[in-house]
Amino acid sequence: MTPTQLQHLASPVNREPGHDAPLNPCELEIDLLCKGLRIAPGSEIEGKARPVLQRRSGLGSGLELILPGRIKDIWVNAPVAENFARASCYVIDAKSHTYFMRDERQGFVYPVRLPAQPGWYGRLTSRGARMDEIGILQGTYLAVYLPPTCGFWFHRPRLNCQFCVTGLNVGRTEAAEKSVEDVVEVARVAKKESGVSFIHFNSGFQSHHELEAAAPYVYAVKSKVGCLVGLQVMPASDFAQYDRLIDLGTDHFSFCFEFLDPGYFANYCPGKAKYVGQEAFFRALEYTTKKLGKGTCSGEIIAGIEPLENTLRAIDYITGLGAFPTVCIFRPVAGSDMERFLPPAYEEMMVVFHHVYEACRRNSIPIDRAPNIEVSLVVQPGDTLYLAPSRWSSAWYQQRLRLWKRAARPFFWLKARPRKLPLERRYAETSSKPGHEDSRSERLGKTG
Ligand code: SF4
Repeated sequence: MTPTQLQHLASPVNREPGHDAPLNPCELEIDLLCKGLRIAPGSEIEGKARPVLQRRSGLGSGLELILPGRIKDIWVNAPVAENFARASCYVIDAKSHTYFMRDERQGFVYPVRLPAQPGWYGRLTSRGARMDEIGILQGTYLAVYLPPTCGFWFHRPRLNCQFCVTGLNVGRTEAAEKSVEDVVEVARVAKKESGVSFIHFNSGFQSHHELEAAAPYVYAVKSKVGCLVGLQVMPASDFAQYDRLIDLGTDHFSFCFEFLDPGYFANYCPGKAKYVGQEAFFRALEYTTKKLGKGTCSGEIIAGIEPLENTLRAIDYITGLGAFPTVCIFRPVAGSDMERFLPPAYEEMMVVFHHVYEACRRNSIPIDRAPNIEVSLVVQPGDTLYLAPSRWSSAWYQQRLRLWKRAARPFFWLKARPRKLPLERRYAETSSKPGHEDSRSERLGKTG
């Protein structure tokens, strides 16, 4: 536990004096992710908001909110189920369709919007699978975990990452099997009814066959639905696999190395350290960023566990490559091995996200360029525009961001259309046939 976390333990969390002025939407997002949120007893939220669901690695297990703002509206998945959230100074209340959130320390009241539960949640696919167990919305995009369960959960002793709950969710709140057809059906509905323009696939450890296993899903969604597609799986050492995935339509890769310090990486991600290695994440991020271009790929880290200076160095490394940093504020998810830890302090996280902004500006990373991709689980680099200091270099960067965004519109429009791929690339479809499922289970058996 970091010194700040110990300090939190010593004094009741979230009862510090508070701020002397209302927070801007990005500051509020950061504070909510650090302190969580309470739902006022008797408030009329149930049935009007997206349900609080634990899926994938557990990061999205809170209440989805939209914080309206001048530069942009910010989506945040506010922790409500975790222990620390019970002591939060933030309380949300709702009366007759008006939602507001109060900071009980000084009485500041913030307007919020609650995105409604999509009509397709709870509906069944034509093969009988619950659509929201195939994929869910996390912000404005469709998130799909690709089964089977991450192999690290089957090792004895377990080698799962200590902050993760994927192994508890798959087969319980997540479908244990997801056919390509079901994923396509859900993607189609999410695009049509919820306006989704980005689909993000992730998976756990599959004995170095992750990219091969993801290919049929990428191919099917890209050719039959048409959306931007992102992939977050274990890194591969055979870079030709990335070329193939890009050919099939992958627009974005992200790599979760989580920590810069190899000791923290080994301690909190024992499976990744033993079977993959931190270097593999770095090399794959470097390769894919070079291949797809500036601002397309992302390095994902957790802030609030390793010393702050490592987090800042990790942000410099990622942005120095031309990738964008996806920084998750550490969330001690209920049920995870770290559920008794405390989240980091707001003040520390402000240092981190000021740094995110500055590092993106210094490296001219085109943040928030793709249309309609708002991620509720993390503070996106685009959210940090609210933290920009008022000086000419910031104004110039923001001017260029607007130009890049406008210039990229036709490019993204073309990319998000269903793509006709040459027949010879249809190998991807054949690899999703039942025989391949069997071989995948066999492979997992070997690691378990
Ligand atoms: S690799 Fe780690 S974070 Fe990813 S699913 Fe497995 S245990 Fe969870």
